[in-house]
Amino acid sequence: MDIKKYRVKPNKNVDLEKFSTKKDDSYSKKEVKEEILPQNLEKMFEFQEKLYAENKKGILVVLQAMDAAGKDSLVKKVFTALNPAGCKVTSFKQPSTEELDHDYLWRITKATPAYGEVGIFNRSHYEDVLVTRVHNLVNKKNDDDFWDKRFEDINAFEKYLDNNGIKVVKFFLHVSKDEQKERLLDRINLEEKHWKFAASDILERENWDDYHRAYEDMLEHTSTDYAPWYVVPADNKWYTRLVVSEVMLDLFKQLDPHTPKLSEKEESQLEKWKKVLMEQDEKNENL
Ligand code: ATP
Ligand code: MG
Repeated sequence: MDIKKYRVKPNKNVDLEKFSTKKDDSYSKKEVKEEILPQNLEKMFEFQEKLYAENKKGILVVLQAMDAAGKDSLVKKVFTALNPAGCKVTSFKQPSTEELDHDYLWRITKATPAYGEVGIFNRSHYEDVLVTRVHNLVNKKNDDDFWDKRFEDINAFEKYLDNNGIKVVKFFLHVSKDEQKERLLDRINLEEKHWKFAASDILERENWDDYHRAYEDMLEHTSTDYAPWYVVPADNKWYTRLVVSEVMLDLFKQLDPHTPKLSEKEESQLEKWKKVLMEQDEKNENL
């Protein structure tokens, strides 16, 4: 797959209208669900085992989207393929009073992945240039550069992570307004989906254009070589999963993790330790 077409080029104007929300017709749903995706997930698992064993690098996956774009189901269908021992999902909700009493990256830095781990942010520090901006939640004290400074902070933070072995990759799940409406309607019409219903999602939909403007500005300023944004079509969930798995595999290949080898000294002592292990039971048997 040509994943480059979904990657946002650094410092380029972004018009979300120009990014597709739809699947690419060269793939069939059946082929993806039955063959390509299961194979990709298996490969992701194998790479993650090595990343975990190597314990030198980590990956931070950032998920952002409008409501009902499928963040949760992406986590469920793609990232559960990973070994939970080396994977951590953090969902960022409205900040607590304690969190609001700190700088906005405070709660974020505490949740970054350890070496060997894949960390997934379901919403993230980007809420602080999205919902915060759309709803005017901070006092900007007439500072015209307020949002530019936040973009600068975020880029510096992600560069810092990159310099320290944590690779950042970011996905904006791009759903159309019509498809969002269908999914929100399902949450009303289908009893088994009632638990997902939130009246706030319907009210928030009225701010669709403002959100899109905030997203475009964010994508323009924070897609970098070291922490790129991908605008992933989200009207067909199976296609979203395919694109995300392809990007993850590309990243794993770049990181090229290796299971550590024993040192020559350790290797030369293996026979000795085998003997010790075997003799332990013989001793017990002779008692
Ligand atoms: P789902 O609805 O699929 O369970 P969700 O991510 O929408 O998942 P909710 O609990 O519905 O989870 O919403 C979380 C809310 O928290 C969102 O409306 C989001 O904008 C808000 N939020 C997250 N971070 C911040 C922030 N820094 N400042 C203000 N609001 C935030
Ligand atoms: Mg929600």
